[in-house]
Amino acid sequence: MRPDFTFSQIKKAEKFVKHECIEYKGMGIWVCKPLKYVSKRDIFKVIEYNHTTYTIKSDGNYGFNCGCDGFLQSKKIYETGAYDPLLPKEQVLPKCSHIRAVILFEQLKRKDVQLRRESNQGMLAFCVSTV
Ligand SMILES: [Zn+2]
Repeated sequence: MRPDFTFSQIKKAEKFVKHECIEYKGMGIWVCKPLKYVSKRDIFKVIEYNHTTYTIKSDGNYGFNCGCDGFLQSKKIYETGAYDPLLPKEQVLPKCSHIRAVILFEQLKRKDVQLRRESNQGMLAFCVSTV
C-alpha cells in the first residue's frame, strides 16, 4: 500500500472516531455511520466521503471485513502477496479507513492511545498519540 494512501486512511479514521461515527454492535460487529450527519456544528462540515453506513466485522483473527471499495482494493493487493513478509500480520492485513477507525475506537476504549487536539495555522486537527 502506498504510504500517502495509508496516511489519508488514518486521517479519515481519526475523523470518524472524533465525530462518533463508530458504534459497536456486539458479536464482533461495528458500524461506521455517515459523517455528514454528525459533523454539522464542526469545521468538518463539508466532507466529500462516507455518505453511507458501513458494517465492519471482525474475522476473529486480527482481521476485519468491510463492504466498501477501499477494503476490496486493499484485499486484492493483499491476496497478490505484494507486501513485506517481515511486517507483523496485523499491519499487512487488508484495511480501509472504516477498519482503521474501528481499531482506533477500540484502542481509545482500552486507553492505549488518546486523541490530541492540534492547532495548525488556524485549522484544527485531531491527531492520535500513544499514551
Ligand atoms: Zn471500509
